[in-house]
Amino acid sequence: MKKLTDKFGREITYLRLAITDRCNLRCQYCMPAQGIDIVNRNELLTYKEMYRITRVLSDLGVNKVRLTGGEPFVRRDFINFLESLSFNDKLDQINITTNGALIANHISKLEEIGVSTINLSLDTLKSDKFKQITRRDVFVETIQTLDKLLASKLTLKLNVVVQPGVNTDEILDFIEITKNKNLGVRFIEEMPFNGKGLRKTDEVWNLDKIYKEIEKGYQNIIPLKDKKSSTSRNFRIENYLGTFGIIPAFTRTICNDCNRIRITATGMFKNCLFDDGVFNLRDFIRAGASDDELTQLFIDTVHHKPENGFIAEANRKNKSVSESMSTIGG
Ligand code: SAM
Ligand code: SF4
Repeated sequence: MKKLTDKFGREITYLRLAITDRCNLRCQYCMPAQGIDIVNRNELLTYKEMYRITRVLSDLGVNKVRLTGGEPFVRRDFINFLESLSFNDKLDQINITTNGALIANHISKLEEIGVSTINLSLDTLKSDKFKQITRRDVFVETIQTLDKLLASKLTLKLNVVVQPGVNTDEILDFIEITKNKNLGVRFIEEMPFNGKGLRKTDEVWNLDKIYKEIEKGYQNIIPLKDKKSSTSRNFRIENYLGTFGIIPAFTRTICNDCNRIRITATGMFKNCLFDDGVFNLRDFIRAGASDDELTQLFIDTVHHKPENGFIAEANRKNKSVSESMSTIGG
């Protein structure tokens, strides 16, 4: 079988696919309050195109897909798309990243379809702060989804973007959730992908600082053996049911074992979160590309995957790293 391997010997097995650039929330660290450039619908990949891209990639060894956005559940017929994707027997895992506000009533359907993991984004446990961060008033709906997910068979991870001066006082509260609940809380370093660039702060909350904050509350932190391509450094508090992890998204110390590629909602192929897109698949497909041509394109493009996120950033045509995470596909 042909495989996707880059010139550093890393094998690509994981696709992150953005379903849409639209979102029902306006998180401060991801989008401006107003004026986000939303593309015309016909510029978005169709579900048929997404299905085809995934099928060709799965023939090349991609066995895991994460569906993200924007908010995947705001796109019409997303659940039907999920169902069709689940018929691809080369995919071992279909995972979703969601803000959860729209899905409390769909959890059993997601179980039925065979979704593996839901990453639920929740940056605070306080209703008023939630409204301030997301600029929308859907805390109750999100917590309802959290409760239903906890009661379901789905593997659950909570994504917490660590925002200096906003939610760093809640890091230990998030750790406490892992005491009796079987979930993984993951603290993510904030990146400049918010439509404007790096936010000015007095403090940098990187992996080390987040870990030190947790050490202030707990002596009995047990490091876990990370999977080779894990994006997070993972731990557990002794005798706690759940786990926690820290994702060095901005300090980028995890690139060595990267097994991921991304495709944006408009079909831009990205070898790295920090590159500015290397090929527009949508135009290639709409110009009539065959499966063989797509296969060769993926093999050639992945071969040139940059060694790490710093090199990817330095190679950008558009030097400023400021596009919204919702258009990249987080
Ligand atoms: N709307 C969905 C959600 O929020 O879960 C999926 C898309 S969102 C872009 C995917 C993930 O990226 C979320 O966990 C979000 O918190 C994270 N994210 C967005 N902007 C970020 C930033 N500037 N730095 C770090 N993480 C970010
Ligand atoms: Fe929407 Fe997710 Fe971005 Fe928040 S992080 S604005 S929920 S895409």
